[in-house]
Amino acid sequence: MLHRKLVTTALALFLCVEWGPLSTERGQWGIASGDPFVKEVVLTFDDGPREHGIQEIMSVLGDRNVPATFFLVGKFAERYSPITLSLAAAGHEIANHSYTHPKLYQLWVEKIMREAERCDEVMENLGLRKTRFLRPPGGSFNLKVFNAMRRKGLKLGLWSLNSADYTGRPAEEIVRLVTHSVKPGTVVLMHSGVPNTVTALPEIIQNLLMQGFRFVRLEDMWNGGRT
Ligand SMILES: [Zn+2]
Repeated sequence: MLHRKLVTTALALFLCVEWGPLSTERGQWGIASGDPFVKEVVLTFDDGPREHGIQEIMSVLGDRNVPATFFLVGKFAERYSPITLSLAAAGHEIANHSYTHPKLYQLWVEKIMREAERCDEVMENLGLRKTRFLRPPGGSFNLKVFNAMRRKGLKLGLWSLNSADYTGRPAEEIVRLVTHSVKPGTVVLMHSGVPNTVTALPEIIQNLLMQGFRFVRLEDMWNGGRT
């Protein structure tokens, strides 16, 4: 009997640590979009920095003075550290997309925390400030991911419009989808290293500027108190 009680208590304790209480986090989980009445939009680029495409993305953004948010994979940020530094120097926001890009929700909490931490360490070693946001690879998360993020002081940085550029869809389709679907407060998901995204980007920016949108970084949207 005692044995069974011990096992039950141990299991309950384990689950508490792994899955964590989340009630105190309500409303503070992170951000996926902004104020629906403010004509602001965030362009986010995942999975960089890669050798291919990133310079082109930077130059398109730079030419039009558009700030963006880059969710970098730690090991790539380390390998291509000059690119990471030039992204930050250009005024873009650098955020956490884990260190090796695993499916975080499949890992134990300790491992999830390590993935987040190692990516943060890369940025810290490069002299960049700690980001507020983590975007789990694939955008997939569960209570374990929440718990790990809370312990690392990170918020979820999600999106409200998926350009699905990773599916190989033509540039014109990416332009059409983003241009027609963006609303005030939209956070757009795109990827580094996708040639069609590079092709689509100038027209997307042009169209949204013509519609009167202002481009901000995720951090700016958050600071505006719009979750
Ligand atoms: Zn990713």
